[in-house]
Amino acid sequence: MSKKPGLTVLAGPTAVGKGTVSTYIRDNYPEVWLSVSATTRAPRPGEQDGVHYFFKSKDEFEQLVADGELLEWAVVHGQNTYGTLKSTVNQAIAEGRSVLLEIDLQGARQVKAAVPDAQFVFLAPPSWDEMVRRLVGRGTETPEEQQRRLETAKLELAAEPEFDYTVINDDVRRAADELVSLMGLTPHPHGA
Ligand code: 5GP
Repeated sequence: MSKKPGLTVLAGPTAVGKGTVSTYIRDNYPEVWLSVSATTRAPRPGEQDGVHYFFKSKDEFEQLVADGELLEWAVVHGQNTYGTLKSTVNQAIAEGRSVLLEIDLQGARQVKAAVPDAQFVFLAPPSWDEMVRRLVGRGTETPEEQQRRLETAKLELAAEPEFDYTVINDDVRRAADELVSLMGLTPHPHGA
């Protein structure tokens, strides 16, 4: 039986293209509300506070955790902390909007424990070879670092059975359309 598609969580291995798919949805599907996370990471050029993230100091983030303001939170890549604000998600759901969270696997597991009737979608690479290409392709990492990333990717791929659906990211637009269909929305027709 399909789940109530009010809240959909998109997760998947590092470098699979979650950010690209969710950015495509934000730019092309205004009917989807893409959650804006809080993070301790510094803004990248072009990123705006409140649009891409709510940029927080470590102290501010810790306060959000202490006040129980976060639906989930995690340290991602052993570096920065990211979390989903309960207030904004609850408001969007109350307004009847389709809400999409693009978060890491640790966060997805926390949402599953807190909101079991949310819908969980795993974004997967087209193949293991493609995954290897995306992870090591840049050639900027040492062989040890590449090996470490591949080990992580293997562990991350093993999480797939925990999810309700898998979408293959073979093409960003196609994957985004499949995801919005799973959210109970109608994909837009695309020009040639
Ligand atoms: P970036 O720093 O490149 O924007 O994001 C890095 C990673 O953080 C991505 O894998 C993304 O899924 C994850 N992320 C972004 N927001 C959240 C959040 O609110 N919670 C969790 N758990 N992960 C997040």
